[in-house]
Amino acid sequence: MYQGVNASEGIGIGKVMVAVDPDLTFEPHEVADTAAEKERYQAALAVFCEKTQAQADHMKVAVGENEAEIMAGHIILAQDPGMTDAINGAIDGGACAEQALVDASTMFENMFLSMDDEMFRLRAADIADIRTGILAELLGVEVVDLSVLPENTVVVVHDLTPSMTATIDKEHVAGIVTETGGRTSHSAIIARALEIPAVLSVANSCSALRNGMTAIVDGSKGVVIAEPEGDVLADYQAKAQAFAEDKAALEAFRGQETVTADGIKKILACNIGSPNDVPNALEHDAEAIGLFRSEFLFMDATELPSEEEQFQAYRKVASAMKGAPVIIRTLDVGGDKAIPYLAMEPEENPFMGFRAVRYCLEYVDQYKVQLRALLRAGAFGDVKIMIPLVTCVEEVRAVKALVEECKHELEAEGLKYDENIEVGVMMETPAASLIADKLAEEADFFSIGTNDLIGYTMCADRGNDHISNLYQVYYPAVLRSIKNIIENGVNAGIMVGMCGEAAADPLLEPLLISFGLEEFSMSAPSILRARKTISQWSKAECDELAEKALACSTAEEVKALLEAAAR
Ligand code: PEP
Ligand code: MG
Repeated sequence: MYQGVNASEGIGIGKVMVAVDPDLTFEPHEVADTAAEKERYQAALAVFCEKTQAQADHMKVAVGENEAEIMAGHIILAQDPGMTDAINGAIDGGACAEQALVDASTMFENMFLSMDDEMFRLRAADIADIRTGILAELLGVEVVDLSVLPENTVVVVHDLTPSMTATIDKEHVAGIVTETGGRTSHSAIIARALEIPAVLSVANSCSALRNGMTAIVDGSKGVVIAEPEGDVLADYQAKAQAFAEDKAALEAFRGQETVTADGIKKILACNIGSPNDVPNALEHDAEAIGLFRSEFLFMDATELPSEEEQFQAYRKVASAMKGAPVIIRTLDVGGDKAIPYLAMEPEENPFMGFRAVRYCLEYVDQYKVQLRALLRAGAFGDVKIMIPLVTCVEEVRAVKALVEECKHELEAEGLKYDENIEVGVMMETPAASLIADKLAEEADFFSIGTNDLIGYTMCADRGNDHISNLYQVYYPAVLRSIKNIIENGVNAGIMVGMCGEAAADPLLEPLLISFGLEEFSMSAPSILRARKTISQWSKAECDELAEKALACSTAEEVKALLEAAAR
């Protein structure tokens, strides 16, 4: 049995096919005719771009627009003037095209790898993928082709690159196993979009698993079992069957209202990072957008996006949601989210540092650009402004004063805007939780960010394996905090939602119903399951369970109680 990262849920059983990386070794040599060598490079680049475009087109139909954009992004990166200049410069210095490509791409790859932010590190994987593609063209070597596979194939590969996934014979893939990558890698994102069970980062899997072996890929638990015993195989076949039936049964909840067993209406919303995520949210039946992480707009740019650029992005989401609520969080920079062009000073303790609303209130002119764009987008739908990392009332008042200032400016300029735009607070710090009553007097709504709330409450970094046991929503301290926030919001008559990962936890959902949570916001594929869970519980049953959960002393007791009660 091999343990890896549970990157895409489900159980796949099939025969192993180890996809071997192409041999891209070459003899570096000096070139005399540099003009001809540059042309040779350009020709290889052109073929690479043509093939990549074809893959992107195929992917658009077979997987989805977002995923196709990853491929289209490869073309832009491959043609990046900085990269082209570096390659031409090296060829002018006598390097062969292969060497020039390897040197320049490695330089860019290392640059991206040195950045703290996950989004930029993903770019490093893209650069490596591009290098393989262009190098293969220069050397005339075939890259791994996964477009025609025997039925029930378990694909084992060192790294599943976006270009491999673009052409993968989806119908015949039972599961994917890789030696690298985490839950947020592109391979994981694409595997989830394709709904193929995947376990990533299984050390040495390319040598440990051999062609023709039977393997079970448990993408829910992150486990791979090679050559299983008869009873284990039968057990997993039953589990795979149950998983498929369970998933099919969720379809019955498509298009239905989200209500508890006793008819209390709830809202199921989606978390997004870009306007391009909206079609997928709607496809999965999202009733609202509970969190648009606007920082991705800033991360994907090389300089601050202008008011117009931001307005267009926010308006696109507001219009696509056709009047349904769209909560847009203002720039949540800092902590784990670095934006290089903002040139923020390195800090000893960035999670407790100059980040989110603290940064925005220091750079007011910059912040007003975003607030103006949000107010203007509000004229095209139900846009709501959310302030991240609030710790005191003063911050909320300061943002609201800026919003008023922006309204006056827009009025004077004769631009359309939403004069009644709601301004809400992201409840994700213990400080905010402790003054939830006071914040509820200032805010139009609350949304609980459990990802940070758990971390700050338990003093446990979400990425630190050594203390991952402490990073759990089931700790009594976290549960009490969540209850306090919801109750104070409800008492003040404002909408209370949750946009942290915990909103999609079926074990926790009955407690959230008991506390009075109104909106549950999550990633798109979790929506139907949440609708089912909500439908299975009445308020009275939830209250009974919540009373027992709140009487527990340890996270273990809470979790055991919720697991025993799960439906
Ligand atoms: C949260 O903290 O729960 C949250 C939703 O925000 P992020 O994960 O972007 O910090
Ligand atoms: Mg947060």
